[in-house]
Amino acid sequence: MFKRVRWSRVAIIIIFITIISIGMNYFIEKQSEAVVQEQEEDEIISSVEETTLSEFPGLQLRTATTESNKFTTSLSIPVAENAELNEPIQQWITEQKVAFDAETKENDEWLSLENRAHLNIQLETKKVTEHIYSLVFSAYSYTGGANGVTTVQTFTIDVENNRLLQLGDVIELNDDALADIRKLLLEELEKDAKTFIYVVEKYLDEALSNTEGWKWSLSKKSLTLYFDEYEIAAGAAGKIKVKLPLEQLNSFLNEKIANELKIPMKEEKQEQLTHEFRELDSKGKYVALTFDDGPSAKVTPQVLAILKKYGARATFFMLGSQVDYYPDLVKQVAMEGHEIGNHSNSHPDLTKLSGQQLKQQIAGTNKKIKELVGKEPTALRPPYGAFNDHVKAAAQENNMSIVLWSVDSVDWKNRNAKTINQIIQRDVASGSVVLMHDIHPTTADALPELLAGLQKEGYEFVTVSELLSLEKDREVAKPYYGKAK
Ligand code: ZN
Repeated sequence: MFKRVRWSRVAIIIIFITIISIGMNYFIEKQSEAVVQEQEEDEIISSVEETTLSEFPGLQLRTATTESNKFTTSLSIPVAENAELNEPIQQWITEQKVAFDAETKENDEWLSLENRAHLNIQLETKKVTEHIYSLVFSAYSYTGGANGVTTVQTFTIDVENNRLLQLGDVIELNDDALADIRKLLLEELEKDAKTFIYVVEKYLDEALSNTEGWKWSLSKKSLTLYFDEYEIAAGAAGKIKVKLPLEQLNSFLNEKIANELKIPMKEEKQEQLTHEFRELDSKGKYVALTFDDGPSAKVTPQVLAILKKYGARATFFMLGSQVDYYPDLVKQVAMEGHEIGNHSNSHPDLTKLSGQQLKQQIAGTNKKIKELVGKEPTALRPPYGAFNDHVKAAAQENNMSIVLWSVDSVDWKNRNAKTINQIIQRDVASGSVVLMHDIHPTTADALPELLAGLQKEGYEFVTVSELLSLEKDREVAKPYYGKAK
């Protein structure tokens, strides 16, 4: 379009030169005539403004149409009661108008009653809640040439609290959320093969990296993103609009908005249930406390409370059969930063089982745990510490380490907090794996003194997998005992 105008200018210059060569006086006369004529021609034929109550409480709609013999404009402008709310919207509309006027002026000589420039600002109002609206503007501007240009702009306003909502009010804009949105966006784009072939991922990433420039709207069900022509794709794709289902974004949704939209939040965010590995210092002083045979309704919560008090992480080798009974405890253990290991489903001697039974005890229990916390255990503690090559192979197949112990508290037998403490204090060393059971109240009773004592000696409480990570180049299923004095 612009190229054509420029070529036309070249033509004008040539014509002017020709005219000059014909005669200076004649030219001056003609030009002044043209100016007079132009003034006459630019007269506004009609200008109508109408403000109507819209169907949306708190919003009015003003439509303004203007017609001259060179251009027509038709603008839909929402008007909220609050002036501050109207300001950014009015500013954007004015910008469109100013740009349109400038281009129209520039192309004046090519515009006529038969070929008028046109600015059409359309508004789509999406009611999100009783007082939140998304306003999606689409400005189509034609100022000569073959094609017009469409620009999209969006505003989401809260007419009750007189606020312009920012994207950050809707979703948490952290790296995880952005990565998920990008993934979801590509998935949605891929569904439309005709558009997708034109999408340039590099442009998409550029557009996404500037979150302030996102054009978005909300509805009860989705977050829609808008991209201008050429923004993320070749021109053939035109402007692009992608709807992202809110339900798939709900782990990043701002709680207030989610509540207002009644989007069910995921019961627990699975990402939160499993904690990141901590990188341990090879010179550190560590002990891995482990609790077998749980979770149990009475003792596990006590153990968790004490661990929390001391900021200690531990590993719970759970039985699948107990997991079935206390799913909430399983989640709580994971949410509080502890590792969950597999202690089989029903506590059999694994060396006595058939291949099928082994699979059920190991893989079956892993599955139960994963369903609750989103991650399969990577540590297997065979009941009675009994394993053979079959058990090792089964562990390997499930990408698990066999984790035994180097310090046995014998808590199941002595049932005495004081004795438990004496045994552990006697045998513990840096790198020890301590065996206990979170089914005996006496074990929970032993913990405050144990944790305080070990902490005083400079021990840090880590999970077995964290401890294992200090062992470089080890075979996955090679039984691990931990260190003792
Ligand atoms: Zn056991």
